[in-house]
Amino acid sequence: MSLDSLNWVSRFLDQTPGDENVGGLPRQVPNKCWSRVLPTPTPDPILRLWSTDVGEELGIEMGGELFLGGKKVAKKMDPYAQRYGGHQFGNWAGQLGDGRAITLGEVDTGEKTLELQLKGSGMTPYSRSADGKAVLRSSIREFLCSEAMYHLGVPTTRALSLVTTGEDVVRDIMYNGRPAPEPGAIVCRVAPSFLRFGSFQIHTLNGNFDTLKTLVDYTVKHHFPNHRTDTDEGLLEWLKQVADETAKMIIEWMRVGFVHGVMNTDNMSIHGLTIDYGPYGWLEDYNPDWTPNTTDARTKRYKFGNQAKIGQWNYARLLEAISPLMVEPNLLYETMDLYESSIHKYNNSMWVEKLGLGEFMQGDEELVTELSSILQSVETDMTIFFRLMSTIREPEIDHLKFAFYDEENIPEDEWNAWLKKWWSRVGGQPDQGKMKLANPKYVLRNWMAQLAIDAAEMDDYSIANELYELLKFPYDEQPEHENKWFQKRPEWARHRVGCSMLSCSS
Ligand code: AMP
Ligand code: MG
Repeated sequence: MSLDSLNWVSRFLDQTPGDENVGGLPRQVPNKCWSRVLPTPTPDPILRLWSTDVGEELGIEMGGELFLGGKKVAKKMDPYAQRYGGHQFGNWAGQLGDGRAITLGEVDTGEKTLELQLKGSGMTPYSRSADGKAVLRSSIREFLCSEAMYHLGVPTTRALSLVTTGEDVVRDIMYNGRPAPEPGAIVCRVAPSFLRFGSFQIHTLNGNFDTLKTLVDYTVKHHFPNHRTDTDEGLLEWLKQVADETAKMIIEWMRVGFVHGVMNTDNMSIHGLTIDYGPYGWLEDYNPDWTPNTTDARTKRYKFGNQAKIGQWNYARLLEAISPLMVEPNLLYETMDLYESSIHKYNNSMWVEKLGLGEFMQGDEELVTELSSILQSVETDMTIFFRLMSTIREPEIDHLKFAFYDEENIPEDEWNAWLKKWWSRVGGQPDQGKMKLANPKYVLRNWMAQLAIDAAEMDDYSIANELYELLKFPYDEQPEHENKWFQKRPEWARHRVGCSMLSCSS
């Protein structure tokens, strides 16, 4: 089957209020949930990357670049941009919306309904002062990372395709007054919906409670059918599910060393999916204070170690947004407690799995705190460290040396003392089978994505495809790839833009 012959539906457009105008210049669109808008046709769309399993899920064969590159719209598609708002870096930013994303429509696969969205396909009423386009480097990062996250078991939106557009896009990567042309690209991403916390906030903060109610009713009816919205109790149960899924997603980030980088409320999916891959990064050296996002370098609001707390702050903004629908808004505090207890619960089970503990027991909290502190004493690679822990046969730091950047300078006594403590805690038999499933061998390190980008910018997609295939099986040994990809960050990547530093420019 091909894209245009799928069963396209438009539940969202049919059941929520939208803009009367089609397309048009960036503007405020008060009291609406979306605007119809067509992708801007691109000169020469070429399909470069394709996710075979997303294709299979949709039931389509590889191809369709005219649709996926925005050059053509099939009759049954009804493209639109979603309107939402958001708190950016802690401040209410008003209307944001899909400024460079256009949903082609929803597809009913028979099993589920999925939204297909082009990212980088031109201006919409929500583009504000920008161009609605995306560059190849950020599109490769989004494609590879969403698929890698999926195979790691982290809740995420998916990517179907990456198409280059045949047109250059000008960007000032480090915002230092040096704009340069870069190849443009479009990723087609796929999710149950792209509704965000900010989708609800915009109506509450603008005092449009009727539209808020319509959107909440719509969301719960289609995406949370086990819940109801006509009682406080029903709303609370729904919000508890959102709290729990958000907490679960963030602890999964912590497990694999992922830093989202821009946890604004417009980037928080109502489904607890990782969404909007921008200046994200993977922890290499285990440093909870690290953020890849240069825009956040000073206050580090979105650093690795802050993510659970920021999730809670964002969730509180969602509760404020829903509160006008509650007869007794005070009841919402219960769901805040649930978020905290979910974080606690998932965090404990994460450590049980990462350290092969069997179950979380008294004293384990101390064991984990000590581990976190020694890990920070010298530069230590998180992924390699935990992976090697999943295979060692005796509690000796010698077996873990490969995880250290400077093998001459390891606090060996401290490490051996901690390892012995861990070893005796697990009775000399850590559950290493389970540990291997919690401690991936391969993740999309920043420099790996950069190598794929450097080659792709020269028209060579072999590294991008190699990484896509490698990261389909992140927990497998894949010994043939070890020498190349089971490696610490190379020196060239230490200070390179795109590896250790990323901006929001994309
Ligand atoms: P993000 O940082 O990707 O979450 O984007 C924040 C807001 O800026 C969203 O409303 C985006 O749609 C918008 N935006 C980001 N880049 C562009 C662009 N190149 N053109 C238009 N809007 C953009
Ligand atoms: Mg966003």
